[in-house]
Amino acid sequence: MTTTEAETQEAENTWDVCIVGGGPAGLTAGLFTARAGLDTLIVNAGEPILRRNAHLENVPGFPAGVNSRLFLDMLTDQVERNDCELAEAEVVDVSEAADGGFEVTTADEQAIAAEYVICASWAESNYVADIDEVGLMKRGSKTYIDANEDGETGVDGLYVTGRLAGEPHQTVVASGHGAKVALSVIHDSDVPFYNDWVAPDGYFTGRGREVPPGCEEIDEEERKRREQQSMAVMQEYFDSPHPETPTQHPSVREE
Ligand SMILES: Cc1cc2nc3c(=O)[nH]c(=O)nc-3n(C[C@H](O)[C@H](O)[C@H](O)COP(=O)(O)OP(=O)(O)OC[C@H]3O[C@@H](n4cnc5c(N)ncnc54)[C@H](O)[C@@H]3O)c2cc1C
Repeated sequence: MTTTEAETQEAENTWDVCIVGGGPAGLTAGLFTARAGLDTLIVNAGEPILRRNAHLENVPGFPAGVNSRLFLDMLTDQVERNDCELAEAEVVDVSEAADGGFEVTTADEQAIAAEYVICASWAESNYVADIDEVGLMKRGSKTYIDANEDGETGVDGLYVTGRLAGEPHQTVVASGHGAKVALSVIHDSDVPFYNDWVAPDGYFTGRGREVPPGCEEIDEEERKRREQQSMAVMQEYFDSPHPETPTQHPSVREE
């Protein structure tokens, strides 16, 4: 997308994908849809429940664990580097638009138009309550949105991921489910089949195959450049402790 196209799109607030919630599930879903070329906006209000964690020790790739607030900062940075936009606002309503897609309304009265909506808001589902075809299921004090294993709800174009879809309560599960639901959106959209693999030069073409859509072949020089860049970025992130401490449970804070 050119700068002018991006500016026009932002001015009109029209997106291919709008994701409600910017925790691990929503951020990872946005990473995948944006990398597939779908113009993606993540709308988040409040803080991901992961900010309450004291030290995150079960996410693959961090042998001694990682500060969960740092993890969220790094994931947000990754999302932004991949051209996914983030907005801070509370979504109060999602409704079906007359000409297809959805109208997303925020508490500060922004009107966002999106072809696809992914609900990734942990336990919050009030904003879809007015869509009759959305199946809200009560189990005890908890509410879930009825969906199939790809996160598809009873409404075309409306998806759900993470806790709201009944997934277990772990970061990597939320992220993985966000990715899976994003792939389901990608497959349902017009973008060509997509694997999101970065392969060494010749991996496909050396066998007389085209590089599949969404995949990339990079030569040794570019591979080294990217490795150097990733080392520099990670060294900077791990240079000093994160300044913020865990958020306490609300009931403990109130005591
Ligand atoms: C104390 C504690 C410790 C934990 N420790 C671990 C651990 O060690 N390992 C582990 O794997 N998991 C841990 N977890 C669980 C982990 O935090 C969750 O699995 C993960 O955060 C779920 O990600 P999510 O994206 O589904 O939800 P969240 O991270 O909660 O993100 C949802 C986001 O949506 C936003 N939102 C909600 N409603 C709206 C709305 N209407 N409009 C806009 N935005 C909205 C929320 O404010 C939030 O930012 C812990 C959780 C807690 C509470």
